Formats: sequence, C-alpha cells, structure tokens
Amino acid sequence: MSTLEIKDLHVSIETEQGVKEILKGVTLTIKSGEIHAIMGPNGSGKSTLASTIAGHPRYTVTSGTITMDGENVLDMAVDERARAGLFLAMQYPVEVPGVTMTNFLRTAKTAIDGEAPKLRTWAKDVRAAMEKLKIDADFANRNVNEGFSGGEKKRVEILQLELFKPKFAVLDETDSGLDIDALRVVSDGVNRAQESNDMGTLLITHYTRILNYIKPDFVHVFVDGRVAEQGGPELADELEANGYDRFLAPLKA
Ligand code: ADP
Ligand code: MG
Ligand code: MG
Repeated sequence: MSTLEIKDLHVSIETEQGVKEILKGVTLTIKSGEIHAIMGPNGSGKSTLASTIAGHPRYTVTSGTITMDGENVLDMAVDERARAGLFLAMQYPVEVPGVTMTNFLRTAKTAIDGEAPKLRTWAKDVRAAMEKLKIDADFANRNVNEGFSGGEKKRVEILQLELFKPKFAVLDETDSGLDIDALRVVSDGVNRAQESNDMGTLLITHYTRILNYIKPDFVHVFVDGRVAEQGGPELADELEANGYDRFLAPLKA
C-alpha cells in the first residue's frame, strides 16, 4: 500500500507580467488502488498540478509538500520520480524523432526498473499489451509519436502505463480528442493497470464522459487553483447536470 500526499501546495509561474500564483493551496491524498477524478473548468490549474507532480521546471513550488510514502517528491529529479513509481501521461505527448517505439519503451523500462527487462518475456509483453490496446504491430518500428494521430498517441500513453507498472498515474485529459471506440480501449487499459497493479490514479478531466468507463472512487472539483469540493461519483453526475456555475459564482461575487 502506497500513499501519494499533496499538502497545501502553492505553485507559481513566471510570466511576462511577473510572477503569477496558479495553485493556491491544493490538498489531496491518493492511496494505492484508488481512482481520484479531478474535474474543473479550463484554466483552473489542473494541468499545472499534473506538471508540478511530474517536476516540470516551469512551475515553482512556493510552499506546501508532495510526498510518496513519506519521501519528498519535490526533491526528486524527473527521472527519480519515474523510478519511484510516478507516471505522468502528458496532455500533449512529445515526438521523439529518430527513436523507435521499441527502443524507447525498452530504454524507459530499463531506466525505471534499474535493470533491463528480460528480452524474451519483454518482447512478448509488449506485443500482448499492443494487441489489447489495438495498436498495429507496425508501430513498434515507427518513431515515437512521429505522425501519430491524437488517438494513437493516447493508446501509446496507456501502453507505457501497462508496461511500466507505476504505483501512481497522473492522466491529464487522456480522454480529449478520442472517439468512442478509442475512449473505450484507452479506458479498458487504465482499468487493467489499475486492477493488476493496484495502481493509484489521478484522472484529470474537463468532461464527465470518461467517468462512464473509468469509475472514480473520489471526485474533486477544482476551481481557481484549489479543490473547491470533494465527494463521491455522485459529484460528477451533479457537474454533468449543472456545470461549474455553483463553484464559479462565489469567485465572481
Ligand atoms: P487547466 O489545465 O485547468 O485548463 P492550466 O493549469 O493549464 O489549467 O492553467 C491554469 C492557469 O495558469 C491559466 O490561467 C493559464 O493561462 C496559466 N498558465 C499555466 N501554464 C502557463 C504558462 N506556462 N505560461 C503562462 N500561463 C500559464
Ligand atoms: Mg495556503
Ligand atoms: Mg489542462
């Protein structure tokens, strides 16, 4: 059992107009096996939270903590975070020219585990995971994300999730731009990783649609850089029906 704990996190960025505080005291605890959905309007700071957990240099933590089983995550370099078992699916996955998927996956797996995966079982595991995610076998020899469609990139993200077996995954708008078939395939992949590895999941989304396929244990409404309300799945239903007005109104007053 592992715990990812975010306590009173404040994060700022440098803009042309000066320093701007984006996260204004985020507190959130995720345990192994739990699915937490973070829902909120555009610009509320959801991706900033994801990027901060991932260690993106653009974002400065001014106060608060992120710990994993008591270890200070904020002290860890990006690759150390991955080795500690954190996985971040980027909202806009990058292209890596000249590096094939096969080489990328094997290199990343080796870096994360601290040893190379067994050649024979690894190739089989990759093939099996690709099949389940309906990724064409040709993809193994293509360069990472080069010319991949939006849906293909998402499948490849989930492929990494299945192969790297992280303790915690942060999925930022994994549902955006997916048609209904791709959404189902991707959701099934997340659910498999969740069940087989007891992974804790932070599922960041703007829309409730993906929550029909990935059932959250907890829902957090994210507004203006902090969690405005927490609840169970019923909170997502309320958002679907009424939108974010109830949470935004106090800000405008
Ligand atoms: P969300 O993912 O909820 O839509 P973001 O975390 O992307 O929200 O953005 C939160 C706020 O921070 C927005 O006002 C956005 O314009 C601002 N912001 C985030 N990253 C940057 C950046 N790199 N440069 C300038 N502004 C940023
Ligand atoms: Mg505070
Ligand atoms: Mg975002």
